[in-house]
Amino acid sequence: MRCPQLASTRTQVVFGAGNADADLMFVGEAPGAKEDERGIPFVGAAGKLLDGLLEEVGLARADVFIGNVLKCRPPGNRDPLPAEIENCSSYLLRQVELIQPRVICTLGNFSTKLLRGDPTGISRLHGQAEIITIGNRAVRLYPLFHPAAALYTRSLLETLKDDIARLPALLAMDPPPQPEPVVPAQAEAVPDPRVALQPGAPVTTFADAPAPQPGAGPADDAELSEPESEQLGLF
Ligand code: URA
Repeated sequence: MRCPQLASTRTQVVFGAGNADADLMFVGEAPGAKEDERGIPFVGAAGKLLDGLLEEVGLARADVFIGNVLKCRPPGNRDPLPAEIENCSSYLLRQVELIQPRVICTLGNFSTKLLRGDPTGISRLHGQAEIITIGNRAVRLYPLFHPAAALYTRSLLETLKDDIARLPALLAMDPPPQPEPVVPAQAEAVPDPRVALQPGAPVTTFADAPAPQPGAGPADDAELSEPESEQLGLF
């Protein structure tokens, strides 16, 4: 579906990039100017910082998958709006379903709040892994400060480095136990009127598996009432 908000102002969709079989996935906020120009996430200054930090722990971009909450650049790099997040979140959930990462690092507030389905900010959550369920998969979520915030604040850079230093140990852990597959509820056979009208025709039912529930809804309105620093989605 074309995003009614951003399709007219973006240059191109920045879908995501990297290893589609990755154990580790990063989720940022939204493409910036450079990403919009090149169609690849995290290719500007924040991306270069992230590349360098990953290299320090022996990880390369080719090992991981990098995406964003929004696939299109908000004009002037403004914060994503709740309606835009809602519009785009199904793509991210599908990416998680297809890639099946063991660890997801959310970068900053927007992806952290979206995937946790909770308005708690990144300053409180960074560096603490937790197991969450996204769609029908359990995954270790490891929130990190957004590298763009670390570009401007030295102490955040140190914290981000310390948190990233613990990534290899997290990746070495056994994968989180997966939830039992959802078994369709025993539905009562409801005859399809089209076939039921034909004597002797087999009974068809409308029973269907329940749609997988995403682990989180779109970012809560509560994020709008967070302190100003957290509204930036960076820290
Ligand atoms: N910041 C983001 O959150 N995503 C990008 O792709 C680039 C900068």
